[in-house]
Amino acid sequence: MPSLADRWPLLSQPAALVVYLCGTVGLAIGALVHLGASTPFVWSELLTFVALIACGTVCIEATRRLGMPAGVSRDLLSAWWLPAALLLPPVYALLAPLPLQFLLQLRVRATVLHRRLFSAAAIGLAAGAASAVFHAVTHEPLDRSLSTGTLFLSVGCAVLFTVLNTALIAVALHLADPENGWREVLWDRERVTLDVVELCLGVLVALVCCLSPALLVLTLPPVVLLQRSLLHAQLTAAARTDAKTGLLNASAWQREADTEILRARRTGDTLALLIVDIDHFKRVNDTHGHLVGDQVLAGVATALRSQLRDYDIVGRFGGEEFVVLLPRADVTEARRVAERLRSRVGRMAIPVDEALITVTVSAGVAIMSVHGDDLIELLAAADLALYRAKELGRDRICMPVAPVPPPRARADNSEGGIP
Ligand code: GH3
Ligand code: MG
Ligand code: MG
Repeated sequence: MPSLADRWPLLSQPAALVVYLCGTVGLAIGALVHLGASTPFVWSELLTFVALIACGTVCIEATRRLGMPAGVSRDLLSAWWLPAALLLPPVYALLAPLPLQFLLQLRVRATVLHRRLFSAAAIGLAAGAASAVFHAVTHEPLDRSLSTGTLFLSVGCAVLFTVLNTALIAVALHLADPENGWREVLWDRERVTLDVVELCLGVLVALVCCLSPALLVLTLPPVVLLQRSLLHAQLTAAARTDAKTGLLNASAWQREADTEILRARRTGDTLALLIVDIDHFKRVNDTHGHLVGDQVLAGVATALRSQLRDYDIVGRFGGEEFVVLLPRADVTEARRVAERLRSRVGRMAIPVDEALITVTVSAGVAIMSVHGDDLIELLAAADLALYRAKELGRDRICMPVAPVPPPRARADNSEGGIP
């Protein structure tokens, strides 16, 4: 029988996150009820709203077959709720995400309910606030006699929508995992580029719609096409990514590592390979269950990533095993990085049911031209070293005992204090 936490995943979230999610949803419902009661009903506004939602529905249905697996999260639906914010009273901006999020949940990907509700509330509040500012500042509606001031104001309000929505989501991500630094949750170049695209698209659709709602039909094909190409790009990225940890999956890591090794051979640069394995991970699963085990895997992955340079290549090799390729790292640097990873993971504490779970890792390190000349040899050497680290008691870094010196390389066998 499924446990309470399985049926209500919200209950297994940190208390601060639960309060924040409920508060945001409550605020959105409150604002919707209040504005709904105080906004006079106008038929033409309702028809424009229905037309925008119909366009959003067509957009979702037209891209539905591409699917939206975990890890794929971006769409261009702001192209429809931004016009609702600029053209209609704020209550419509709050309302717009509801039918479209419901449709996404029903037809595209059923995700945990609290996440879907929070998305709808965050978008609704951000769009509602942008709409309220727009209508408070100007009494000129967006129409054919558009002034430059109103145009700038509409762009400014679209920016406000994007900033508020990003901020609301960033707080939730940070509360879900305080290890997520503010910079990571707020600044991602790819995401900001997409935000700008969405924002431009939303303002353009609003301008077309203010000429005549019938012209929305002309905006549909380009938006659908953009949405399809965006999904396609995300699906390609998702195919390279391990869904549990967000790191590269084994085959993508292998491809990238191979390319980097070929480059290092050509240029004569040094390079190191680490295999990092969580110690006694089976115990974590046996004691706390697989879901908690998955959280630990994700936590270790984040800790590893946070300690590496942008051009280091890190992937999940399988199970509780990670692989890291360190371009331009020699023995000393590889050892230093491996030690830093080991100590960072050791200091990590994952809160679960009022307890804190800690784990340690062991790692095997292999150096190019010292322990192997290609990926297979380096992996084999690092794996042997890892095996030794486990035998010697875990929570440590090891290098292969007897490097096989290739003819062109000097075998660096000095391992200092590391076994
Ligand atoms: P050692 O210190 O020798 O590495 O011991 P260990 O328990 O970490 O290693 P062992 O190979 O005995 O067990 C690995 C465990 O990892 C068993 C398996 O259930 C678990 N595991 C593998 N993949 C996943 C996963 O995706 N999620 C979770 N939660 N557990 C996983
Ligand atoms: Mg293990
Ligand atoms: Mg293992």
